[in-house]
Amino acid sequence: MTERGVVLQGTGGVWSVRTSDGATRDVSLRGRLKISADKLVVGDEVVLEDAGGAWAIAEILPRRSVLARRSPGGSYGERIVAANVDQVVVVFAAASPEPHPRMLDRFLVIAEANELQAHIVVNKVDLVDPAAARARFADYPVAGYPMHFTSIVTGVGLDELAVELKGRISALAGPSGVGKSSLLNALYPGLNLRVGTISPSVNKGRHTTVGALLHPLPDGGYVADTPGLREVGIWGLSPDALDRCFPEFVAYLGHCRFADCHHVVEPDCAVRAAVAARELSATRYDSYVRLRQELQ
Ligand code: GDP
Ligand code: ZN
Repeated sequence: MTERGVVLQGTGGVWSVRTSDGATRDVSLRGRLKISADKLVVGDEVVLEDAGGAWAIAEILPRRSVLARRSPGGSYGERIVAANVDQVVVVFAAASPEPHPRMLDRFLVIAEANELQAHIVVNKVDLVDPAAARARFADYPVAGYPMHFTSIVTGVGLDELAVELKGRISALAGPSGVGKSSLLNALYPGLNLRVGTISPSVNKGRHTTVGALLHPLPDGGYVADTPGLREVGIWGLSPDALDRCFPEFVAYLGHCRFADCHHVVEPDCAVRAAVAARELSATRYDSYVRLRQELQ
């Protein structure tokens, strides 16, 4: 007898797997399985086999996508944080804490580098003038990112956000205190997350031993809490690949004088010309230059 399921969590060789009937089983890996336990990650789809009363993971199904990051401590080697993630949902607050576009751009680059769709949630819009919040994040719809303005105080934007999360695996990212746990509790009262439960994505070094985990959503889909993202490595990205991680730059690439233009100091650079002409955002370009320096 076999069953299919999704890996929610794993510690010490025991994996928590949610089966298609909605039950959660604690299972082990079958000994004969070729894949080693540290290669199995949350989000993996698995086949469970009933081996005489105890269920075990007999097979790991091919991954649709992976979310990977640099190893802790900066050593080389890709570390897969979660599998089958459909989208990255980056949450910032309109105020308290003040949003940092540089950090937002960094999360977006991680999503792009993993070829994952990113959504931006601007929470706590009750604390600011709505027009000001939109103006502050105006670069992002221009770059093509879906935006959601939300508040758990007024309830604005919550229904639209629930629609985006439904039936998908979403990796939730964003700084501490922006309201990630509060949003999930407001959307799904049954989830009962402690406020502050979702791992902070900043504060390097805290909770480094905590692994990723998936929260099943009551109406289908999962939210991945991936503490690894906070160390935010733009792992293994070549400086030249960074160009394409800024979607609004793409139309200008290939129009610079030099084919290998870095878009930083070169003459006749189409990207810099677009920034000078205000066709591209100077703030986003500044993030690009800083990230490029970091990668070189
Ligand atoms: P997390 O660290 O991102 O999970 O953030 P929390 O969910 O723990 O929320 C941090 C604080 O922000 C808590 O005191 C929440 O009550 C508050 N908060 C969350 N969402 C909102 C919101 O939409 N508006 C306001 N005014 N406060 C919020
Ligand atoms: Zn250029």
